[in-house]
Amino acid sequence: MLDKAPNGKVSDLLNALDKALSAGDVESAVDLFQADCYWRDLVTFTWNIKTMEGKDQVRDMLKARLTDTKPSNWKIADGEDASEADGITESWIQFETEVARGFGHMRLKDGRIWTLLTTMSELKGHEEPLGFDRPMGAKHGAERNRKTWKEEREAEAAELGHSRQPYCVIIGGGQGGIALGARLRQLNVPTIIIEKNERPGDSWRKRYKSLCLHDPVWYDHLPYLPFPRNWPVFSPKDKIGDWLEMYTKVMELNYWSSTECKKASYDEKTREWTVVVQRDGKEIVLKPKQLVLATGMSAKANMPKFDGMDIFKGDQHHSSQHPGPDKYKDKKAVVIGSNNSAHDICAALWEAGVDVTMVQRSTTHIVKSDSLMELGLASLYSEQAVQSGMTTAKADLIFASLPYKILHEFQIPVYNAIRERDADFYKRLEKAGFLLDYGDDDSGLFMKYLRRGSGYYIDVGASELIANGSIKLKSGVDVKKLTEHSVILSDGTELPADLVVYATGYGSMNGWAADLISREVANKVGKVWGLGSNTTKDPGPWEGEQRNMWKPTQQEALWFHGGNLHQSRHYSQFLSLQLKARMEGIPTPVYGLQKVHHLG
Ligand SMILES: Cc1cc2nc3c(=O)[nH]c(=O)nc-3n(C[C@H](O)[C@H](O)[C@H](O)COP(=O)(O)OP(=O)(O)OC[C@H]3O[C@@H](n4cnc5c(N)ncnc54)[C@H](O)[C@@H]3O)c2cc1C
Repeated sequence: MLDKAPNGKVSDLLNALDKALSAGDVESAVDLFQADCYWRDLVTFTWNIKTMEGKDQVRDMLKARLTDTKPSNWKIADGEDASEADGITESWIQFETEVARGFGHMRLKDGRIWTLLTTMSELKGHEEPLGFDRPMGAKHGAERNRKTWKEEREAEAAELGHSRQPYCVIIGGGQGGIALGARLRQLNVPTIIIEKNERPGDSWRKRYKSLCLHDPVWYDHLPYLPFPRNWPVFSPKDKIGDWLEMYTKVMELNYWSSTECKKASYDEKTREWTVVVQRDGKEIVLKPKQLVLATGMSAKANMPKFDGMDIFKGDQHHSSQHPGPDKYKDKKAVVIGSNNSAHDICAALWEAGVDVTMVQRSTTHIVKSDSLMELGLASLYSEQAVQSGMTTAKADLIFASLPYKILHEFQIPVYNAIRERDADFYKRLEKAGFLLDYGDDDSGLFMKYLRRGSGYYIDVGASELIANGSIKLKSGVDVKKLTEHSVILSDGTELPADLVVYATGYGSMNGWAADLISREVANKVGKVWGLGSNTTKDPGPWEGEQRNMWKPTQQEALWFHGGNLHQSRHYSQFLSLQLKARMEGIPTPVYGLQKVHHLG
């Protein structure tokens, strides 16, 4: 028999919360929280993405936002039951605010709230046309001069950006721009996506030949249209490119390919952007109210500068420009860097018969793909999870419900278990001279990704080639200079080279703001990405959320969107709702707008 006790506990607490909040009684509401509590709000109370840590922060937020928000109807989500394990009672919850419906998650410890996640599902009166409300498509009856769907689409394409301005322009039509564009289309926010490549999906197609997604299919779905059940676990890059192209079409996005944004500026008086784009050799000026940079956090190549690069006679390029191994058979290659791209490229070069050396300057976190799938992701994103009833939406929300401040505490045991399971593998890598780390606090890959977006390789085979010496390794050294035919390392080693690949990573999205808007605006918004964890490449102070991503920035009407497929899917919901609310004139007072502590 189902134990109803957890339901009773959660309902009692929600009733008490409802009562306190409805009465404007902040102190009674705060009393329902643990001392070490976390309330993560995705847009419902704060019109921001913000975690309140501890009772004082919860109190401050409620004092500032309760009157406007007018929350009500807190209850266990329809069709759900609370559960209890290891002294924690948890439940899906639903609630409303004055302007929106919300969904969330709550964990109780000792009868009080330990973690609370509140997310905006939809704006009242602006619901997406789904299910019972889906469009008819056909227009039954008789009507003179009626337009077909195709004619309407063509008319929209002809006028939007020409005789009618879009409300929103998204620069960058990779998966980020596409997912956000799909959500905005459903919310009826006139939007144009600007993409300099010829076809949607090209940002994947143009990457090195051997690339397959490192994350599995269950993690990668786009909004509205999940991959079919026969989709491969790790999608090859050209296949994901084709999916994005198909998606762009069927989701009816206004996607301007072969169009480059040249510059953008904001007029604080008219509260309007001027966005200059080059399309088919012609300059077009767009005047949106909102501008989203979805230009990619892995798109602004970090190209190092070494003496002698100008005299090197072989091929040299950043990993993002690497064409693949085919023309380098029997040649000598040096790959500078030791993260994902470096490993993938080294392995593909070795497979093609190239003599390849990896140059590793500092430590790298390696995790075997199958271990990551089984120990790191399986409970939320796997076939087993699907079989046991886990949906993508719930998996995303469970992940979102773990506050960043303590997320590493959940991650450390996972990576300890992986280290134990793969101890031999790590030993052999170290024996080959590879410099390993597991994150500054041993919290592994996800934390590295969230904090700095780099510093790891998900092993799909290259590590074995390093361990057995097939891929040669020089570690703990830097490049001193290049000569006409070689790379000279800081320890004096000379590596003859026909090809040098700089797998040296990517710069912050802040750089895009500097390039396209101005250095002044880039400095005003500051660093993009990272949590302020005070770990390598993620300087403090603690921010509590990822800097500048999917939420208001210090520059009015400027937004950053992107991340991996999971983040792009999940956070596009909250960014699209923020944009829609602004378009509809719904007041959106931002609580706790982040301060800028670091520039680019
Ligand atoms: C080697 C590699 C492997 C990866 N593996 C994974 C993985 O397995 N799973 C995963 O989720 N992520 C992975 N990533 C991260 C990946 O980069 C992102 O998930 C994805 O590409 C981000 O999508 P995006 O739309 O934010 O950016 P991008 O795909 O980089 O798209 C940005 C777009 O902006 C366009 N653009 C830039 N400037 C302008 C301009 N001025 N005008 C017009 N257009 C412009 C670019 O042409 C580009 O198409 C990987 C990245 C790399 C480099």
